[in-house]
Amino acid sequence: MALGDEGLLTLTIKMRASPEPGSEQELINLMRRYREALNHAIRVVVENKALSLGKAHKLLYSVLKERYNLPSKVAQDCYREAIAIAKSWLNNSNRGRVPRAKTPRLWLTNKYSYRIRDGYVEILEGYKLRIVGWDRRYDAYPSGDARMILKDGKLVLEVSKRVPKPVKYFARGVLAVDINERQIAVGNSMVELRLETVAERALHYKCLAERLQKKYSSPKYCAWLRRRGIRERIRYFHRKARNIVEDWVKKVSHKIVSLAKQYHYAVAREDLTNLVENLRKLPKEHRVSLLILSYRKLEQWIDWQCEKNGVPLIVVDPKGTSSTCPRCNSKLVENGYRRIKCVKCNFEANRDTVAILNIERKALSKMWGALTPLNAPQMTDVNPNRWGGTDEPPKGNPRPLGRGGGQPLRIDDL
Ligand SMILES: [Zn+2]
Repeated sequence: MALGDEGLLTLTIKMRASPEPGSEQELINLMRRYREALNHAIRVVVENKALSLGKAHKLLYSVLKERYNLPSKVAQDCYREAIAIAKSWLNNSNRGRVPRAKTPRLWLTNKYSYRIRDGYVEILEGYKLRIVGWDRRYDAYPSGDARMILKDGKLVLEVSKRVPKPVKYFARGVLAVDINERQIAVGNSMVELRLETVAERALHYKCLAERLQKKYSSPKYCAWLRRRGIRERIRYFHRKARNIVEDWVKKVSHKIVSLAKQYHYAVAREDLTNLVENLRKLPKEHRVSLLILSYRKLEQWIDWQCEKNGVPLIVVDPKGTSSTCPRCNSKLVENGYRRIKCVKCNFEANRDTVAILNIERKALSKMWGALTPLNAPQMTDVNPNRWGGTDEPPKGNPRPLGRGGGQPLRIDDL
């Protein structure tokens, strides 16, 4: 997943690959050596700022061939990948430790190191693998670099494709996304729905990991006896928590963006940068780290899904979105659990509803200029889940998104 040049998207197509019998173990061994070689190469490239092919070649080529026993072409691919990884790490302002490859793999440079033909992929050193489960939607586009990785004991080929960006349509309105700790509220002045977050479920696994860690760091237990098994178990729990969040983020962003596309809305989200920065200042608890992860991933995936689907995206300043009256711009006051009220115009609503209305309003003003006060219908008597309590948008015949099946949202109505 990456946003490429202007006008082009880089997609990654994944497919299972099954090697010819007899060569599998040899290939996996090569991929293991490659992983070790790559981690060495990344360190060397970063330490020496060897970001050009010439410099990296000089420093690494013979070491990769001799110490890691890589064939010459594979050694070249290895420092090429190390340069790519080092560059993206150096460009990241939030970078932590130098990245390390964890899974056994092979980087395959386009045109030189692999070829896809007749349902097979042929790679350097004469390996030939049958492709299983092939996403053929992007066959028409040229392939870029690829990599072979070993995931859960299976070989997976990931091929990058350069695909033209879809043209964005002209939005008829805005679908606002309000992200908070408990849930995600999606909607606008005509419609609203809530999507649950998986924070609690992911947190459960983080807590399991922590409990184990605590238990086995006490001197009472002979932790060293079982250290490896325990460590793997702890790692498994952390990974599980992370996977839960990542799966959820993909599903939720897909749902939001498809809904916007169906009704030709633009997606509007708040800029969460400050929120994430403030969270980073908090003590390093699991809950906080999961929130940071889900906010960051959600932003990335919503933006990416918008690009991929040609859905216009508007990012708004989060300032005051949950404390300003969407009708008259006055300050709102608390009025019971999660409800807020405007003392000036009597507008009253749930916090999430207020946030949605304000995000919608800000996005519309970005789209059309003027900041028009929103002449929203009174929300107090409206069932928040107008799709009958499920988070599925209606399928098949699209029902107009109006109240009681009325007119679709018109901009003049606002
Ligand atoms: Zn008001």
